[in-house]
Amino acid sequence: MSEVYNFSAGPAVLPKTVLQQARDELIDWRGTGMSVMEMSHRSKEYMSIAEQAEADLRALLKIPAEYHVLFLQGGATSQFAMAPLNLLRGRSQADYVNTGAWSKKAIAEAGRFCTVNIAASSEDTNFTSIPAPDTWQLDTDSAYVHYTPNETIGGVEFHWIPDTGDVPLAADMSSTILSRPLDVSRYGLIYAGAQKNIGPAGLTVVIVREDLTGSPRDGTPTMFDYKKHADSGSMMNTPPTYSWYLAGLVFDWLRKQGGLSAMAEINYRKSQRLYDAIDRSGFYRSPVDVDCRSWMNVPFTLADDALDSVFLEQSGKAGLLNLKGHRSVGGMRASIYNAMPEAGVDALIDFMGEFERVHG
Ligand SMILES: *Cc1c(COP(=O)(O)O)cnc(C)c1O
Repeated sequence: MSEVYNFSAGPAVLPKTVLQQARDELIDWRGTGMSVMEMSHRSKEYMSIAEQAEADLRALLKIPAEYHVLFLQGGATSQFAMAPLNLLRGRSQADYVNTGAWSKKAIAEAGRFCTVNIAASSEDTNFTSIPAPDTWQLDTDSAYVHYTPNETIGGVEFHWIPDTGDVPLAADMSSTILSRPLDVSRYGLIYAGAQKNIGPAGLTVVIVREDLTGSPRDGTPTMFDYKKHADSGSMMNTPPTYSWYLAGLVFDWLRKQGGLSAMAEINYRKSQRLYDAIDRSGFYRSPVDVDCRSWMNVPFTLADDALDSVFLEQSGKAGLLNLKGHRSVGGMRASIYNAMPEAGVDALIDFMGEFERVHG
């Protein structure tokens, strides 16, 4: 099979060496004669896998001791409900910042449980910008402030952390977690579906400050209660064992790359090279404001959108896969998560240059 580069937004590319290791261990994990998939989640072998993964994630993100790290199911989408169910703690309102498609979904779900105060929105720019912090209407009566640090569909990313004073900050980091170092202590809650930058689908990572757990809203289902998951080490029921194991291999890979400072340098370089190529040409265009362009998801359009289908067909043939933009935005989108090699971005830039030469 020839080399391909997969620019899918999620499930997304995984590090090749991680997949090779998983292949080598697939049938017989380290002499046990069992696949990880076949192990009891309570066996000492699996417990060692689970604990190592958590330890490596804590080391990568320098997670303070007073935070729980949970390995759950249900995707980031379940967190849209779990966040209000756990974080409201007797209050009836939460602040939400609306920067695009994923913010909107979080807002709609939270509205089932509380009054949602839209503290800021970039809808007036069609979600191509981030509202300036001095325009935010934060309400100190709110139980927490929720935002989406990276809008996977719009390609809009915060390169700064909002200051919400004493009100806990909650973040859907599905498509940006582990792309750079992070000051976890600034947050009350961080959650992420695994299938962008962590591992395979089926796993959701939650990092929550202890004091925000333990007072869920009346009627909260057991499986939606952070404290219950924390008390059971994320093993209240059978966790997504294989995805958790694979995530552990990715965390180990990240540590061997030099950790998140090293990843930040690479990710910045990859994304700037691609944005430079887009900005240099009169043929391609980025719809996103320069100061909030995502390092992970890079949407771009062609001067003539009649050429979109030709671009997609030919890029696919050249081994550059899944570049079609989200149906709500159109155009193209290159997702260039941690596991996308620099050579993949270079191959895309070369292809874009040649396509422009022929069709521009
Ligand atoms: C992909 C994504 C989601 C949805 O994740 P699921 O795990 O499919 O529920 C939510 N938020 C963001 C920012 C995403 O990128």
